[in-house]
Amino acid sequence: MLYRSKHWSVKEWDCYGRSRNEYAWDDETEHLCTDNEKTANLFRILDMLRDWDPRWRVNLTYKGWNSGYRDEYVNSACSGVWDSYHKKGCAADIHIGGQDDLDTELAKTVMVAAEAWGLQDKLGIGLYGDWIHIDTRGYTSRWRG
Ligand SMILES: [Zn+2]
Repeated sequence: MLYRSKHWSVKEWDCYGRSRNEYAWDDETEHLCTDNEKTANLFRILDMLRDWDPRWRVNLTYKGWNSGYRDEYVNSACSGVWDSYHKKGCAADIHIGGQDDLDTELAKTVMVAAEAWGLQDKLGIGLYGDWIHIDTRGYTSRWRG
């Protein structure tokens, strides 16, 4: 099934800012499209977050990479775990721009969005202070970074 994101482009999620990668592509109006179910689930949640607050952002690493989809090179350079969900097209490190909300508050908001899609038992969430990692791996996992 094709999913077309309401609020996000591949450019702001792909590590190199490309408009296409192995999991998703931007249409002519720069809306992310995917036919991967886990990628679609990630953006179902991310779309709902931006419905509520358009300032939700994918983190930028100190080297200028978007911390969303990563290829092998960027994942290693970011010290990501070898089987990172960032490489599997279903993860993003996110925060609300201009805000310093606590990770626990961000995670709570993500869970409300997840429940709306019936995805509450399918998420990996990592807490990192003022940002969080989320992935739609298909089962529950929680950690503090
Ligand atoms: Zn992450």
